[in-house]
Amino acid sequence: MTALPDPTTQHPIRFPNADAPAQELISRCVHCGLCLPTCPTFAELGVEMDSPRGRIRLMKSVWDGRLDADNLAFADHMAKCLDCRACETACPSGVSFGKLMEGARSQVVAARRPKLAEAILRRVVFRGLIASPSRLALFARFGYLSKRLGARTVLRAIRMGRLAELLDLVPERAPTAQRLPPRYAPVGATRGSVALFTGCVMRAAFADTNAATARVLARNGIEVVVPGSQTCCGALHAHAGERGDARVLAKRNIEALEDLPVDAFIVNAAGCGANLKEYGWLLKDDRDWAERGEAFARRVKDASEYLVGVGLAARPGELRATVAYDDPCHLIHGQKISAQPRALLAAIPGLTVVPLAEADWCCGSAGTYNVTQPDLARQLGHRKAERIRASGAEMIVTANPGCQMQIEAALRRERSDIPVVHLMDLLDRAYV
Ligand code: SF4
Ligand code: SF4
Repeated sequence: MTALPDPTTQHPIRFPNADAPAQELISRCVHCGLCLPTCPTFAELGVEMDSPRGRIRLMKSVWDGRLDADNLAFADHMAKCLDCRACETACPSGVSFGKLMEGARSQVVAARRPKLAEAILRRVVFRGLIASPSRLALFARFGYLSKRLGARTVLRAIRMGRLAELLDLVPERAPTAQRLPPRYAPVGATRGSVALFTGCVMRAAFADTNAATARVLARNGIEVVVPGSQTCCGALHAHAGERGDARVLAKRNIEALEDLPVDAFIVNAAGCGANLKEYGWLLKDDRDWAERGEAFARRVKDASEYLVGVGLAARPGELRATVAYDDPCHLIHGQKISAQPRALLAAIPGLTVVPLAEADWCCGSAGTYNVTQPDLARQLGHRKAERIRASGAEMIVTANPGCQMQIEAALRRERSDIPVVHLMDLLDRAYV
């Protein structure tokens, strides 16, 4: 392995703080290019600097003092990455690309001096909105009502098409934000106990999916508690380079959940799960929290991972439908979970599961990507919709709210009314 030059002796440090992409991780890349065919942005743009290898080279260039972290081109190539981590799955050298990308973005945020309006907008979104479930629920309701009342037509007429496209992402059905009971009693013999992580977007707009997850677990003999003091996991903050805010939220969640006498913390949103499992890495430089972060992360389980691990105690009822499963990137690439959701689908009698080409290819949702990079997100959404239509499925199953919204919007743009449902909602239906 080639040692990277020590930037403290040979070059000025161009990354502004300790969240910089780790040189040890960068040095694992041997530039073989095996990740390139799996990279959606490289496939769409055909530019080396928009491939994993190219982006790693750019990070190294900043360490070597050949590029500044506030360089606009550097920021642009980092921003265009989906952070989908498909390159991690493909990489034979074990490059943890997600950690590198989140580190690089944090340095762009720290190095750049954003315009006042952008700084205020980021503060409002990341601190005022996403971190507050009640405000996010109000926002979701406002978005839904605006869409229903025809705001998209008005926005397009006054040449605010970008805002209209954002409203396209709002689900067709009304957001549900009901408060869940603090406990779901297990049905039959108790086989385990878990705490349900309810998330921010999930709590604000998909509370019925949270309730479905709790019911499915309870139906299988698992006691479910829903702690009220938990908060947003901080995934959107970490992906956007706001690692300071992400750490504040992580500490709040650790304090809220770590002492609970439960077997696992269950999460049904792939993006949240991948982030919760990396609390140890997020807090690694904090002497008082690093170990607590690691211990917390070890107890996080995706709902499908946990259910397949303990086994289904209750046989689901019959559902007659032809479905295809689309892998959320942060489940298949971020958590290496792809067999478990398929095993749960296979357990539903009557269900026909058809293969979906490029099921492991990002749909373009990628956190806030469909807001910050709308053109690329739309291209990837179109690609996903084409594959879905070719699959012959009459329903798409996935396991992440962002994917659900993005795929649904992409299908509607193609005039397709194929429904997109969460795996836990489908299982819950099978148990009714
Ligand atoms: S995370 Fe996804 S978009 Fe980014 S470099 Fe890797 S494969 Fe490409
Ligand atoms: S596959 Fe891994 S080692 Fe090869 S270029 Fe991509 S990131 Fe580097």
